[in-house]
Amino acid sequence: HGDFNQKIDYVFKIVLIGDSAVGKSQLLGRFSRNEFSLDSKATIGVEFQTKTVVIDHKNVKAQIWDTAGQERYRAVTSAYYRGAVGAMLVYDITKRQSFDHIARWLEELRGHADNNITIMLIGNKSDLDSQRDVSTDDAKEFAEREGLFFMETSALEATNVEPAFLTILTEIYRTVS
Ligand code: GDP
Ligand code: MG
Repeated sequence: HGDFNQKIDYVFKIVLIGDSAVGKSQLLGRFSRNEFSLDSKATIGVEFQTKTVVIDHKNVKAQIWDTAGQERYRAVTSAYYRGAVGAMLVYDITKRQSFDHIARWLEELRGHADNNITIMLIGNKSDLDSQRDVSTDDAKEFAEREGLFFMETSALEATNVEPAFLTILTEIYRTVS
């Protein structure tokens, strides 16, 4: 029942990138299965998860790729980026270093991905505001300068996770339709 014999109008590949432990796998678990785990092990093997949403009366299947522990610089292969129409660049708002590395991830992404890829900057773990190490303004300014969409999320509290994915999917839809 449900989305069983559903007609799919579009399939959009979105890649998750960013330093290890920023919450990429938990964001994906929250969006695709509404699940969260506090003691998530390093991601092993899982290539992608899918979730179908409705945008403009069309069934859009998001195929979201998660790094399989390849977060070291330049370890993500070009196969990972191939065919991606969207990318979420994730940092942890309590880890300055994960934000400082975003420029590097962006450079790597722009080197591998399609020119018109839609990119969204995500500051995750917004529930840990008392340990915040990256201001919202800093991130906003960076996103504006680089032409990225931006949102802060909490995979733990399910804050802004669906809106973030819907924003990037809607923007991708606009560029392809
Ligand atoms: P990844 O390496 O980027 O895939 O990071 P994970 O998704 O494995 O998450 C790393 C750790 O951060 C895990 O212990 C998660 O439970 C935790 N985590 C992920 N998202 C959040 C969040 O939104 N808030 C809090 N407080 N912890 C989170
Ligand atoms: Mg992971």
